[in-house]
Amino acid sequence: MAQLIDGKQLSDQVLREVASEVELLKGEYGIVPTLAVVLVGDDPASQVYVRNKVKRAEEVGICSIAHHLDVQCTQDKLNKIIDELNNDPQVHGILVQLPLPSHLDEEEVIAAINPAKDVDGFHPLNVGALASGRASLVPCTPQGCMIMLRQVHPDLSGKNVVVVGRSNIVGKPMAALLLQENCTVTMAHSRTKNIESLCRNADIVVAAAGRAKLINADWIKPGATVIDVGINAIEVNGKRKLTGDVDFESVAPIAGAITPVPGGVGPMTIACLLSNTTLAAKRQLA
Ligand code: NDP
Repeated sequence: MAQLIDGKQLSDQVLREVASEVELLKGEYGIVPTLAVVLVGDDPASQVYVRNKVKRAEEVGICSIAHHLDVQCTQDKLNKIIDELNNDPQVHGILVQLPLPSHLDEEEVIAAINPAKDVDGFHPLNVGALASGRASLVPCTPQGCMIMLRQVHPDLSGKNVVVVGRSNIVGKPMAALLLQENCTVTMAHSRTKNIESLCRNADIVVAAAGRAKLINADWIKPGATVIDVGINAIEVNGKRKLTGDVDFESVAPIAGAITPVPGGVGPMTIACLLSNTTLAAKRQLA
């Protein structure tokens, strides 16, 4: 049976480190790391994500400011709020919860955030810095996946990795981080041919397709490490249940190590967001 990579336990460890950084920033520099979270509309999943982020921030001593805007909020109004947060020296990190309602231009909003406060790591300057291997604010989910992978593979050099999914927020930055660690990375997506056999040859599979139980035991080499980023709501016996992109029951008996859903990548994402917030606060001191 595979080793379980426990995201809850690991994220608690990261959060403890964040809490002591926060203490240091308060004690030595008198600053309280502050995260502004902007939510537009009433999407229930986004509301839950924002609540969790705010709750965890408070637990580690980070001040959070929530801006909950009406679903009809205009682009101008949203840009104005971003501008105010950019210019507010008390605010060190800005997060705009995605997806935005369809009348708003996500790219424009992301580009409007001061890159130094872009704790999601989605601003084009941070994306470019990551792609060229320079220090930057790294997107939280792939950052969390890397911490999980290092638990099993302290040296990732030379590993064959397949990343299933090529989104800007997960798949692409994940591939960039793996490449920095000298992995041989294959990016698979909905048009990839022979995806099953590509995955079966991999030492590590990172699943970020948003398709419930897409990956089963036939896709996985015995002993491989499987990181399941997917969060999919399915119905089981009339009840809503969260499941990953990996069919955990079939894969866990043959994999070497695996992350669960829930309790895997999800908690790591929030921990890395708060770690990015303290990092941003420290850099703004300089
Ligand atoms: P997107 O929908 O933006 O991207 C999905 C990617 O998967 C696309 O590149 C798509 O290919 C590819 N894909 C879709 N179906 C298949 C398939 N059958 N075979 C191979 N590739 C496929 O999703 P995100 O990257 O935003 O999120 C992915 C998953 O991760 C979701 O379940 C999301 O909820 C979850 N998530 C979890 C987080 C966490 O903290 N745990 C954080 C962020 C996301 P193509 O480009 O060709 O369309």
